[in-house]
This record gives sequence, structure tokens and C-alpha cells, in this order.
Amino acid sequence: MVSNSQRYLSTRSSTEPYLSFEQAVIQGLAPDGGLYIPTEIPNLPENFLEEWKDLSFQELAFNILSLYISDDEIPAADLKTLVEKSYSTFRAEDITPLTTLNQDLGLYLLELFHGPTYAFKDVALQFVGNLFEYFLTRRNAGKAEDAADRDIITVVGATSGDTGSAAIYGLRNKKDVSVFILYPNGRVSPIQEAQMTSVLDPNVHTISVTGTFDDCQDLVKQVFGDKQFNDKYHVGAVNSINWARILAQITYYFHSFFTLAKTVPGGPQALAKKINFVVPTGNFGDILAGFYAKKMGLPVNQLIIATNSNDILDRFVKSGSYSKSASENEAPVVHATMSPAMDILVSSNFERFLWYLARENIASSNTEAGSIVNKWMNDLKTTGSFSVPESVLSAARAHFSSERASDEQTTETIKKVYTEVTPKYILDPHSSVAVTAALRAIKEQPKGEAQYFVALSTAHPAKFSDAVDLALKGIDGYSFEDDVLPQEFKEMATKEKKHLYADKPDLELIKSIIVDELAKEKNI
Ligand SMILES: *Cc1c(COP(=O)(O)O)cnc(C)c1O
Repeated sequence: MVSNSQRYLSTRSSTEPYLSFEQAVIQGLAPDGGLYIPTEIPNLPENFLEEWKDLSFQELAFNILSLYISDDEIPAADLKTLVEKSYSTFRAEDITPLTTLNQDLGLYLLELFHGPTYAFKDVALQFVGNLFEYFLTRRNAGKAEDAADRDIITVVGATSGDTGSAAIYGLRNKKDVSVFILYPNGRVSPIQEAQMTSVLDPNVHTISVTGTFDDCQDLVKQVFGDKQFNDKYHVGAVNSINWARILAQITYYFHSFFTLAKTVPGGPQALAKKINFVVPTGNFGDILAGFYAKKMGLPVNQLIIATNSNDILDRFVKSGSYSKSASENEAPVVHATMSPAMDILVSSNFERFLWYLARENIASSNTEAGSIVNKWMNDLKTTGSFSVPESVLSAARAHFSSERASDEQTTETIKKVYTEVTPKYILDPHSSVAVTAALRAIKEQPKGEAQYFVALSTAHPAKFSDAVDLALKGIDGYSFEDDVLPQEFKEMATKEKKHLYADKPDLELIKSIIVDELAKEKNI
């Protein structure tokens, strides 16, 4: 039996037949430009607060994934194996541990950086890599190793840091999958470059491009748009618009709820409606998973968007206008901040939330919701902005509030947490944006509320040494080498590396590199 929550439609249309989970994941982006969402959000078992409270991360993941993936598509035993395998690469026993920052304030930190690349994207991409391999193995069953009709996926992506390494670690050594990651030469941090280029698996290819990150992203778009090339090599994406990434991230909202509930007198029942998640947000993928958790029935009070000075979401929540420019006489520009993984002009996953806003407040059918989203996205493309009616804005505010942090505030918070929290704790700049927002929300809460605030920590501080050093240099006893840098990173400098060069950002050049490398892979 396939339930409605296991069938997928595009946010810009809803023509049946709906897609299976496998189709939605392999396709990534819908042909009409929309993103895939389940046709319904599943309900939780009625007594899940009791029944799920002692489950492990993996058990919770299995229960949640099962609601969105039919047993006909991935039998339960296989799904369990996929989950086990995906989280066996994490260094923390409970995968995403919760740390207390200040019990009196009710401030906690959810550490999402214990995967292979030390950033939260591992939680999803470890699973996505195994999922790709599972689908391809099934499609290629019985075909010869060198058969011309083998199903393959050639993942092509651009990165300024975190996405590239997490994708590489998710896809390394996966059969019938090849991965090409383009990055701007000299413009990613040495640690992030070393992380990517020290992976020597034959199916992993990093290309250092003479140009900017935008050049790299443009090249990726051009490769996708090249129909002939795409048909032949099945170009795939693993960016955060992929539904499987959102899905995999839902688990840690449940897991941290139950972890915190263990410390609260009265347990899960007492924590209900008293927990708030504060999420450092760029493309809206991380926090969108929290929205799904809340809609499924996890009793969350508010989801708090924390942006850096790239604040399109903060401005939307405050005004109802989704606009690329901060003001009429300002050009739409991406600001380079000390939390670079959140430096975006528009948030690609916000479209999914817009669909729910349209469907639940102004549309009388899925099809109508699709047309409304289509119009909003069109206005955004042609005029740079769109506005939603007051009723829609207040519906959005029932789930989300928002805060914005400048680089100065981000630095201040890293310092404050380091000097005030015992034992000493060092935040990365993205997590610091979240903690800055959480501290503000705590101050603003009505007296006597006693709410709990869980800030999501999305990266290990060693990945962003410049920002951490800037905040902590000169403080008595602080040493980046001793306090921050993991042994694994120290060893990376001397490891063997491989990467390719593209001396100009040119489509034909990139395509020829991809074709050559794929041919070499076949001959190994
Ligand atoms: C990707 C990333 C984010 C932003 O996540 P979104 O899903 O794009 O909102 C925040 N912090 C770090 C460290 C990241 O790598």
C-alpha cells in the first residue's frame, strides 16, 4: 500500500500521476521548475510521545522515513540497513548530541557536526549517497559490468566549501555514481580544499576552476541545461532542493526533543509546546525539516530563523515581502560574511513552505496552490520580489519568527560563549548566528514563560578558523591548535591529494574533463 504521504508532486503543478519517492529523489528538480513535496504530510502514531521517547537516532530515522517511503519501494529490512549504514560513519554515539549552554536560560545546542566532514550536511548526504547506490544497484541487477545500458548518475555540483565535501563523502566509492565538484581556485579555505582533494576514490573528481563561485555555479547550470550531454551521462544533483535531504533532516528535531525531554521534570508531555528551535539559515533546507516535524505533530512552539546580513527571510517574516533587494534603491547583492554557508540571495527551499502557505490559506486545491506559487516565483524572477496577503503572513508567523545577526554580533557571541560557559565551549560562526538569535529571543519572551531554546550547531569550529581566531585571539589560554583543531585535520595537510584544473570557466572544457574522467573510471 502506498499512502498519500509517499507520493510526490511539484510545488508548481500537481498533474497526476504523482511520482514515487525514487523518481522524486533521482529527478531532484521537477521539469516545471518546482520542487517535490509529499502530496500529504503524514500523521504520527497517537501516543508517539510515549512510544518513541526512548528510541535511538537510527530507530527514529527509520520510523520517520517509513512514513514518507512506501514499503513497496524500499522494504523495511532494506531501509533499516540503509539507515544503519548511513549513520555508522558518525563519531558521536547518539549521532546528534545535545549540549547545555545555559540551563538557567533554557539554552541548548544541538551538535549536527559529528559526521565525516564535520558539518550538518553529512546528516542528509550520508543517507542520500546510500540511497543513490541502492536504487542504481536495483536498476542494474543482472546487467554486465560493461553493459552499455547500465543506469548511471553523474553528479555535478559547485561549492564554496561545505556542500562539496559533504557530497564527496556521501558519494565516494558508490557504484555507478560519479561525482564532479567544481570550486573556485584559491577561494575555498585550505581545510575545506584539503578535505575534498584528499579523497582518492576513483569516482570522485574535484575541479579547481579559475574563476569565482558564481562562475562555478553557472557552469553547473549549463551542464544541466545541455540536453544531449545530460541524456547521455544522467547528470544528477545533490543540492538542498533534493527531497531526500530534507527528509533525512527531520530526524534530529525528534531526537533532540526526546533527548531534552529526559532532563525535563514531567518528560515529553511537559516539554510539549515549550520547545523552540533556532536555526542558522541559508537555503531554508535545515529549518524546513523542522517545519515538517512540527506539521507531523511534534509539539514545537516556534521555529526561529536566524540569518546573517543576507536577510531575505528575516525581511519576509517582518514585512510579508520576499524581495532580493533590501530596499528600493539597493541592488540585489550577496554579502560576503563570516558565515559563508548562509551567503545567499534567495532561499531555494522557501518555495516548499510557500506552497503550504498558499494551499492552506488561499487555494482550494493542490492545482490552485501550484499556480499561486508559480506566479510568486515568476514575479520574483521578473521583478525581484513578491508580496503575500496579510492572512498568509500571519499564517507564516504561526510557525516562524526570525532574527538577523551581523558579523560583529557573531564575533561577540563566540567570545561570550567561550568566556562564560563552563566547560569552555567554542562555537563556529554559523552556530554563533543561531545562538545570537536565541539569546535575543530569550530576552524577548514574556516573563514567566520558561521556554526551552535549542540552537542548531551546523559546523565544527575548525572549519572556520579565521572567524574563530578573530573572536578569540589574545584571550588568555586560547590556542586554535590545541582547543579547536581535531587530530584528523592536522593529518590532512600531509595526505596525498588529487585534483583537476580548468584554467577558464568554460562549458566545453568542463564537459571534456568530465568525459575523459568517466572513460578513465571505466578502465580501472
Ligand atoms: C549549509 C549550511 C547552513 C545553511 O543551511 P540551509 O539548509 O541552507 O539553510 C548553515 N550552516 C552551515 C555550516 C552549512 O553548511
